Amino acid sequence: MGASLENHRPHEVVIVGGGFGGLYTAKALKNVKNVNVTLIDKRNFHLFQPLLYQVATGTLSPGDISSPLRAVLSKSKNTKVLLGEVNDIDPEAQHIIMGDKLIPYDTLVVATGAKHSYFGNDDWQKVAPGLKTVEDAIEIRRRIFSAFETAERETDPEKRRALLSFVIVGGGPTGVELSGAIAELAYKTLEEDFRNIDTSETRILLLQGGERILPFVAPELSKSAAESLQALGVEVYTKTRVTDIDNEIVTFKQGDQVQQISSKTILWAAGTQASPMGKILAKRTGTECDRAGRVIVEPDLSIKGHQNIFVVGDLSSFSHQNGKPLPGVAPVATQEGEYVAKLVKKRLQGRTITPFKYNDYGNLAMIGQNAAVVDVGPFKLKGFPAWLFWLFIHIYFLIEFDSKVLVMIQWAWSYLTRKRGSRLITGKESLALAKVITQQPSMESR
Ligand SMILES: Cc1cc2nc3c(=O)[nH]c(=O)nc-3n(C[C@H](O)[C@H](O)[C@H](O)COP(=O)(O)OP(=O)(O)OC[C@H]3O[C@@H](n4cnc5c(N)ncnc54)[C@H](O)[C@@H]3O)c2cc1C
Repeated sequence: MGASLENHRPHEVVIVGGGFGGLYTAKALKNVKNVNVTLIDKRNFHLFQPLLYQVATGTLSPGDISSPLRAVLSKSKNTKVLLGEVNDIDPEAQHIIMGDKLIPYDTLVVATGAKHSYFGNDDWQKVAPGLKTVEDAIEIRRRIFSAFETAERETDPEKRRALLSFVIVGGGPTGVELSGAIAELAYKTLEEDFRNIDTSETRILLLQGGERILPFVAPELSKSAAESLQALGVEVYTKTRVTDIDNEIVTFKQGDQVQQISSKTILWAAGTQASPMGKILAKRTGTECDRAGRVIVEPDLSIKGHQNIFVVGDLSSFSHQNGKPLPGVAPVATQEGEYVAKLVKKRLQGRTITPFKYNDYGNLAMIGQNAAVVDVGPFKLKGFPAWLFWLFIHIYFLIEFDSKVLVMIQWAWSYLTRKRGSRLITGKESLALAKVITQQPSMESR
């Protein structure tokens, strides 16, 4: 590792990515003597992705779950935040490349996360967007609320059925949370808001490839989650593979049975793939990536042969604990980030620490109001207690990095009253939708 305290030159730590991994690395290096931190992100904010689905379904606004990185780190006087996209690294020269700028480092931490994977069917992306960024959430929100608006104007029953059919592909937490939230929207929140359509006629299909939804929780909790979704009105299909998405028609196969549904709103929550930085790192350092494009790391999260380059979070493939890569969840990213910060500090004192060990505190997923599942060690909760626990954990972590008390009160209020204040249809396409609507003869005039 480059500089030591005796050099008197500050040790330069460059962190690429201000998500959970990068931000928690920077926070843990706050005001450390003789260490300069540069955090680079292509966005100027940290995004609390676990609550993105609430933006996508109109409960929260994007600003409620985003914190400007500069503000979060304003008290870290040794930390500089730069807005920019890192395109390359040069491990020999020890600098990263951001456009025409070269930024030197002694220690590099790469935490650029993951993106959606359509398992080779990239043409599905346009019809079936995934949820990863604020823009994705706004686009999904536009599609959901536009579907109801267009259905209100539609007279053809078949077209109306397609508008009121929502297909969610993938029964992990995002798929479960999205389908539960859309069900509450259709069957409760919007119930009295439309005149020409009956929103209770909405169909919501959750398609899961595996044997059960939420496969990472105990089987009884998966079962309870499926039952809660069904009670909300969601049709849950397990052992079901999507074989085609074309012309807003989803073809799916359950056993030998092939079915099709025409749907105007298809949402993708089925797979992730490492960000392109994985490939760049592999090319420049000769390291290997796993099948999902994640960088295979050493027990101390560094890259083989490059002790001063670390990869944390969703981009990292760490399988030294139980032979399988750790899951792509926020606690893995934050613990990895904190570990690397600790290792950097120890190395600067000429010491080291034991390999990284992930403390798994369990898994949770929200299904709808008063319904969630919590699988934390021996504690297996469902229904209302699980929902309260989920609420507490999310409020706690959201508040931890920025003071969001007021926002959370507002959120809790809208949750309890089932009002969704952020039902905005925005973007260029929304204007096109209005045009289509105004050009059509209205139902009443037909
Ligand atoms: C919809 C959704 C729901 C989720 N729900 C949960 C949940 O309930 N519980 C849970 O534990 N986890 C959840 N996760 C997973 C969790 O959010 C991730 O595991 C976590 O964000 C990973 O952190 P990270 O730092 O690796 O990446 P990210 O948080 O994705 O951060 C990556 C950062 O890198 C930046 N970046 C990328 N490329 C570049 C580049 N070339 N140059 C500069 N900056 C770059 C990005 O702008 C971003 O800020 C969810 C994820 C999603 C998408």
